Amino acid sequence: MPSSHVALEAETVRCLKAASDACARRGSKLTELRQQVLTILCQSEKPLGAYQIMEALAKISDRQRVAPPTVYRTLEFLLSIGAVHRIHSINAYMSRSSLGRNACEALFLCEHCGRALEVPNATFQQTINLAANELKFQVQQQAVEISGTCHQCRATNRDDTQIGERS
Ligand SMILES: [Zn+2]
Repeated sequence: MPSSHVALEAETVRCLKAASDACARRGSKLTELRQQVLTILCQSEKPLGAYQIMEALAKISDRQRVAPPTVYRTLEFLLSIGAVHRIHSINAYMSRSSLGRNACEALFLCEHCGRALEVPNATFQQTINLAANELKFQVQQQAVEISGTCHQCRATNRDDTQIGERS
């Protein structure tokens, strides 16, 4: 699948550039480890937990095994610049395509295959901004998590189970 591979590479480059710009604005740097973690998340089809990220890091680099606190610190940093999402319901992380764009994301999480689809939405953003202003609430992170069954799993399971059907 060469075309989607090219698209994935382009998306990874775009994410790294956006993260690097966000770092520059804060006077910090996108270190090699931060780049590697972000690249792993950009190229994963599914959100990953910290331990899966550690395993992926061990595969791509010769460095000594990265300790969990280091991975968590790196993830905290990437969260703080808006480069990744923490998905609370499954305790995992995914890259965020909308860094630098004014849009809240709806994260559609498939309970069957674990894939996550990120849909940025400016209307959600306006609604959240409005509510936050009324409450005088400072928003730190925002994403709407929606769990269910993805298109592919629905197609696969249509014959044996009636996923998503209501009687
Ligand atoms: Zn699925």
